[in-house]
Amino acid sequence: MTEKKSKKDDGKSPLEEKLLMKRPFSWEGMEAKKEKAVFEFCDGYKTFLNAAKTERLAAKEAVKQAEAHGFKPIGEANGLKAGDKVYAVNKHKNVILAVIGKGPISDGINIVASHMDAPRLDLKQNPLYEDKDTQMAILRTHYYGGIKKYQWVANPLALVGTVVLHDGKTVDISIGLGDDEPVFMAPDLLPHLAHKEQAERKSQETIRGEELQIVIGNMPINNKKVKEKIKVRVLEFLNKKYGIIEEDFLSAEIEAVPVGKARDVGLDRSMIGAYGQDDRICSYTSMAAIFDAAKTAPERTAVALFVDKEEIGSDSNTGIKSKFLYNFVTELLERSEEGCGCETMLVMSRCKALSADVNAGVEPNFKQVHEMSNASKIGFGVVMTKFTGSGGKYTANDANAEFVGEIRVLFNKHKVAWQTGELGKVDEGGGGTVAKFLAEYAMDVIDCGPALLSMHSTFEVSSKADVYAAYEAYKAFFLN
Ligand code: MN
Ligand code: MN
Repeated sequence: MTEKKSKKDDGKSPLEEKLLMKRPFSWEGMEAKKEKAVFEFCDGYKTFLNAAKTERLAAKEAVKQAEAHGFKPIGEANGLKAGDKVYAVNKHKNVILAVIGKGPISDGINIVASHMDAPRLDLKQNPLYEDKDTQMAILRTHYYGGIKKYQWVANPLALVGTVVLHDGKTVDISIGLGDDEPVFMAPDLLPHLAHKEQAERKSQETIRGEELQIVIGNMPINNKKVKEKIKVRVLEFLNKKYGIIEEDFLSAEIEAVPVGKARDVGLDRSMIGAYGQDDRICSYTSMAAIFDAAKTAPERTAVALFVDKEEIGSDSNTGIKSKFLYNFVTELLERSEEGCGCETMLVMSRCKALSADVNAGVEPNFKQVHEMSNASKIGFGVVMTKFTGSGGKYTANDANAEFVGEIRVLFNKHKVAWQTGELGKVDEGGGGTVAKFLAEYAMDVIDCGPALLSMHSTFEVSSKADVYAAYEAYKAFFLN
């Protein structure tokens, strides 16, 4: 006896239709109206990426947008009640936006946590020297985060950062992001002469840390008394424009970042290519989601948390391991109508969190690092990653089935496109996010964010459908 085929005639029997897992491709059968909304939303995302090339600029942009949506500094708020919108900034790099819910804050908060830092080249503290043989002024760098160093050479870079000057004043510097501004680059070795020196190295050593050096000048100053003519010319420029002297580099944070603007990828413009999408894709989408949630007071208090230092393990006072979130929740309680009758730690344990971070999208040319049945692909929706870590789930946040179930039901109810994803084959490698640090408070937390191609490169690629799915996912989470 043969089974009756379903009406859709996609080759599945009714029994298969009922029992088998469905992981639909998001673009398949997407209505024109939705497609238009997806593309429009992504235009805003690209604008954000172009403005937010560093964690400081991303934090500044988040505050600017929050203020435009009526968020006030928490220090100015008292008697907080449902629908009130507040924010806090930690040392220019770490931001929290909150919308007070209808229910008591002490019942817990719905948190979406993303990070605004991205892999890059930091300038060393004593960066500038003049190479006599080549008559070049060079900047020494120290890479930040997990990069494939060879991707960062022979590419235009901008220098962006903050310098505390000898007189104690602070200046922000930015050279190379404007279309008419000069750019910088770390030279690579030409293939003709790379047969031995470079070709015999292992790929991680193709470029070594100390070989990531940036060319910043090649012209002497016209002054016979000066010995280091190229270097001094560079310093003179920096001095005229920003008041910088050489020692000021010691109290500076200057980052070399790719200059390219976010671009549509593909003839169909279905994807976005840009630097820093890990994890500003989640920062932007969770920001948009909390602005929507702010239009009507959500049931539970909503928090969009943007942290720094995730790429280097979440340490430092702007990383999620600092107590900034904890202190913010204490302040929320103190400044709310309900008052501070409850221990912050208890409230933290009642929170629910999405660790909004990216996963690895399967690259068509490197499928072998994935176990395809549990791998995430771009265009298949936001990825729920139950656990991260490496090997036998070491150092993972492993979300409880109950919480996975809760989020799954929520996403299905709100028709959020989502998929499951594991970061590569079991013994292939691994990685982590901020999830395990939120889990320390005993709150429920799961990783949830889009998949990317070429993560941590200077040009990461996302699917526009997934950008929108992430926004819908975070919105559903905030509003329920
Ligand atoms: Mn990340
Ligand atoms: Mn990362």
